[in-house]
Amino acid sequence: MPELYQKLERIVSKNRISNDLYVRHAYSRNVTSNLQGVPDIVIRPKDTQEISEILKIANEENIAVIPRGGGDCEFGGSKPIGDTGIVLDLKSMNKVLNLDTDNLIVTIEAGISWSKLNDYLCHFGLYTGCMGPGSGLTSSVGGGLSHHSVGGGGCAKYGPCTNQLISLEVVLATGEIIETGCQANKYSKLPFNRFGNGPDLAALFCGDNGIYGVKTKVSLQVFPKPEFADYKTFLMPRNSMEISAQMMSEIRQKGIDVYDTMYFMDLIVSIGIQYGMFPMWEHLKRKRGVIFYTVEANSETELKAKVAQLDKIMLSKKAEEFGPEISDGNIAKWHYEEQGHWLIAHNLWGLVPGFDPVDAECHVPINAYPKIMKDLDQWDMEHSEDMQKILEITGMRPITGTGPIILTEGNNVELTCGFTSFPSYYNGEKHENIKEINVKLWKSLLERLVKQGAMFYMFGDILSRHMVDIQGYQKGYYELMRKIKDAIDPKHILSRGKYNFWGTKRK
Ligand SMILES: Cc1cc2nc3c(=O)[nH]c(=O)nc-3n(C[C@H](O)[C@H](O)[C@H](O)COP(=O)(O)OP(=O)(O)OC[C@H]3O[C@@H](n4cnc5c(N)ncnc54)[C@H](O)[C@@H]3O)c2cc1C
Repeated sequence: MPELYQKLERIVSKNRISNDLYVRHAYSRNVTSNLQGVPDIVIRPKDTQEISEILKIANEENIAVIPRGGGDCEFGGSKPIGDTGIVLDLKSMNKVLNLDTDNLIVTIEAGISWSKLNDYLCHFGLYTGCMGPGSGLTSSVGGGLSHHSVGGGGCAKYGPCTNQLISLEVVLATGEIIETGCQANKYSKLPFNRFGNGPDLAALFCGDNGIYGVKTKVSLQVFPKPEFADYKTFLMPRNSMEISAQMMSEIRQKGIDVYDTMYFMDLIVSIGIQYGMFPMWEHLKRKRGVIFYTVEANSETELKAKVAQLDKIMLSKKAEEFGPEISDGNIAKWHYEEQGHWLIAHNLWGLVPGFDPVDAECHVPINAYPKIMKDLDQWDMEHSEDMQKILEITGMRPITGTGPIILTEGNNVELTCGFTSFPSYYNGEKHENIKEINVKLWKSLLERLVKQGAMFYMFGDILSRHMVDIQGYQKGYYELMRKIKDAIDPKHILSRGKYNFWGTKRK
């Protein structure tokens, strides 16, 4: 290992590489404490060329390399699987390289966060449309593209962030650098179109969870932020889960280009109020579900027409409108005007000390989620013995349910479901026991959802392998994934272990 360290040290400057124990441990996990893997070395490259050199050496030495953006993956995706490898921290590659205001395309380094990018764009009256994931304050554009992220604002109107992708620069595991779309023509000056010059190779790296290449440069389409917007929040009647699904379907059937629609189930509303997360709803007598919409337009007349259509849908189903201000209960205003779209999940997840969301975030059709949520209640009951064990150790019983249910492009929703647990509870004693139960429950829950036909996008450490182990993939699809991996990363160094692609170093 010292030899490898010295070779890498020749590529990057001294303050961009470390094998100090505390640094390695700082990079040994993502959001959940249930999954850990301590790297041997952490590197922060400053440019594409350095990454290419690092990967060539890693290939020679047959050592795993794990790309990391914001480190916000909920399934342990940007830390090693096992105690090994090099974590490639891309957060220093965070510059805006070009803004083409004529053609509305921005070119950036892949480590830039969604918030930094949009902060830059707003000075030109522009935004990214889909504002990335709910973790957009810290997560990177490269991480978002690797997950097909969606959920941090604008996803009902614009869809996942990969929709906006024009062109990518990627370093392959072998160190080769490629560009996609219009940029595959070596005479092309500026990125302008993703589709052409052959197959859509950018798609190969979208949603790849970091296994096919390291994204270094990204060109995204950007949009003028419309001048007019409105946002309203409603208290739901009883049976709010079913009714919220009907409302979302109707929005789609009527073709209204709503910017966001989000539903909070009754349980989240009451627990959130109890822990001070939703002060605007404290006055509620009946703690029922809540739904909101945000909508944009280019003129007042257009806005009024859209609002009238949306209100009709909500009110006809006996939802009650909150007042216009945030303090009246209008969380939609906070969401749209005060970057609530990037704050809400962070708040939810910091609810109580030691709280750990054991996540099963996925997409399902709008009309399927009420049934799936009922099945999750059933799953919870079937696992009450294990839940009881966690209660006995921590004093808190895990809660199964869903965070915000978010309408995305097309007729589907992002279901931020899972269960809460408390592995790092107050004094940390018996952490390992709880971890074992959590991981067992987690795998069981993921399997349940896979078998309900849910579509996942974030696979990380746990789901990428579990999906293969439970034979959730159609055989031909998985075989093709493997053949592509073998062809472009013959030693399986990139994100080694994900999807059970281990190369010769099988764990
Ligand atoms: C509070 C909170 C809210 C969240 N809300 C959402 C949400 O609404 N929607 C959603 O989709 N997700 C959500 N997430 C999950 C996660 O934050 C996002 O999916 C996000 O896009 C990950 O970006 P990141 O930069 O943090 O990636 P990381 O966690 O650093 O990496 C994610 C994956 O991408 C790979 N990767 C990262 N950068 C690169 C690169 N440049 N090249 C190649 N591979 C790379 C990694 O190896 C890893 O497999 C949330 C997480 C948190 C903590």
